[in-house]
Amino acid sequence: MQHFAELGLRPELLTALKALKFTTPTPIQAAAIPAALEGHDIMGTAQTGTGKTAAFGIPLITRLLNHPHDTALVMTPTRELATQVLDMMQKLLGNQSKISTALLIGGASMGTQLEQLRRSPRLIVGTPGRINDHLARRSVKLGSTRFLVLDETDRMLDMGFGVQIDKILAHIPKDRQTLLFSATLPANILKLSGKYLRSPLRIATGETNAPAARVKQENIKVSDSEKYTQLLAQLDQRQGSIIVFVKTKHGAEKMAKKLKALKHSADTIHGDLRQNQRDRVIRSFRNYQTRILVATDIAARGLDIPHIEHVINYDLPQAPEDYIHRIGRTARNGAEGEAVNLITPQDQKKWHAIDVLLNPDAKREPAVNPAMAAFSRKNRYGRRSFGSLPRGHAARGAKKSAA
Ligand code: ADP
Ligand code: MG
Repeated sequence: MQHFAELGLRPELLTALKALKFTTPTPIQAAAIPAALEGHDIMGTAQTGTGKTAAFGIPLITRLLNHPHDTALVMTPTRELATQVLDMMQKLLGNQSKISTALLIGGASMGTQLEQLRRSPRLIVGTPGRINDHLARRSVKLGSTRFLVLDETDRMLDMGFGVQIDKILAHIPKDRQTLLFSATLPANILKLSGKYLRSPLRIATGETNAPAARVKQENIKVSDSEKYTQLLAQLDQRQGSIIVFVKTKHGAEKMAKKLKALKHSADTIHGDLRQNQRDRVIRSFRNYQTRILVATDIAARGLDIPHIEHVINYDLPQAPEDYIHRIGRTARNGAEGEAVNLITPQDQKKWHAIDVLLNPDAKREPAVNPAMAAFSRKNRYGRRSFGSLPRGHAARGAKKSAA
């Protein structure tokens, strides 16, 4: 696929793509856009940072342009991601467009959203909680939704969101086109997704459940007491924007405070902050005003901040899939990036689960007592301690660059 023009897109879209400086479709775009334009439901997977947003956005806008009575709904797991997705949709609509939109996310002003809803938006982007709030107060009607997207599908259909999604879907016509996208797709979610789709096409480019091609991963073994010192050393060694993932909101808050006290340019984002604080923090990180963002998994998925060069996993994520999403905040759209994981003896089990996800076919020693085996003297710095090397190391990454 050489050029978007070959996809037979509407002229409005080609103009918008030109303004975005998108000339060549990425592999997932080249595969998914024609299938979606034919009306198929799609279960799509492609690595982080490979352009999945436009892969569903272009068919979505086409649908709105071709069918003036249809409306579209896109749901995402976080408010920041919804904001970013709507931003991309608006760019794809172009500034001449008369199609109105609404952003229905928690923590934001109801007044503004009600105002947007009064203008009969043809595109709604939002998070499940707030959409259900609007359904409950009958301020939104979803009866003309003919195009539905669940971005970060595996998160949207997991236990946390599944019930909410089902409630929303009860308001949406069965006669619709549904597109599901993520970089990770555990087997149970793939199975579950069938419930939401009609004769779907499974479109996968690159490997599913694999990190971005150009992210260089490194594990550093530390004791609990060395962990913070090691973090400071890493922050000093590295240049450019860094995101540090920690486990808890409280931990994020505390760490950002400590880093600021050391005159680091740092800030934090987590679910206990007011939405206007969250917005401010993301804005200043996007604008290079803050160098270090200390985050919980709220920032693990979808955020596209191209200048992030380093991801530090200070704490490992609870769900192994989130490891792939976290390190996918760097090395986006063909760029290079680095991920470093600080691993304490207590993290052994969590790392093992991540390693199994990344290297499903690797031969492993039968783990009699994994925690002991990994930290025994013999294995201390050996490969075996952490399984085989993570995917995405330079040798394998080179052949898999995105767009
Ligand atoms: P994903 O959802 O797969 O993680 P995104 O949709 O966030 O990826 O896209 C990653 C980056 O690539 C964004 O900055 C986006 O603007 C850019 N991008 C997407 N498609 C193209 C394209 N065809 N040409 C150039 N850049 C693109
Ligand atoms: Mg995405």
